[in-house]
Amino acid sequence: MGAPTITVEVDGQSYDTTDVTWISYAPCGCVEGASTVDGRSYGGELILAEAQVLAKFYDTKAERDKAKAQGFRFEIRPRDEVKTLMGDCPHTPKWGIEPRPTLEGHAWGIKDSGRVAHLVPTYGKERGSFLLHGDKFSERYDLGHVESLCGSVRDMNWRVAGSSVPECTRCTKRAVA
Ligand SMILES: [Zn+2]
Ligand SMILES: [Zn+2]
Repeated sequence: MGAPTITVEVDGQSYDTTDVTWISYAPCGCVEGASTVDGRSYGGELILAEAQVLAKFYDTKAERDKAKAQGFRFEIRPRDEVKTLMGDCPHTPKWGIEPRPTLEGHAWGIKDSGRVAHLVPTYGKERGSFLLHGDKFSERYDLGHVESLCGSVRDMNWRVAGSSVPECTRCTKRAVA
């Protein structure tokens, strides 16, 4: 709708930018996600650079760096191909990524302004209150500050950290130990 046609080359063939899509390959090689290349016809943008699409997939630089370090790859592929590739990952570990270490009575949480996830108690001993409800930490201010396992962060506002958020190394060590 008015936007000039732009073509990109994939495997030596030319495609209109509306006929291709960005796909995210997990370290195991499975297709983990997809993102629009050309959204101009509905008020979006044209995204041809990897740095731009990374910002769509991940909120923070820390998450982008983690994904790259884990071996995620991003490529522009024909849209038809992606339909057949998208699906569940049959590999162990899933997506080729070792699951986060866990610790009983704790969950991986992040502060609103935080860049890394910390292990946070899900139960407030002193006050006898559950701090974690489903996937949301309590927003009850009367529960006061909750300290991360590593002791480096005290905050009232924790939320459950998505799997792309890098983990605090000190909390990780405490969980594995
Ligand atoms: Zn896989
Ligand atoms: Zn920590």
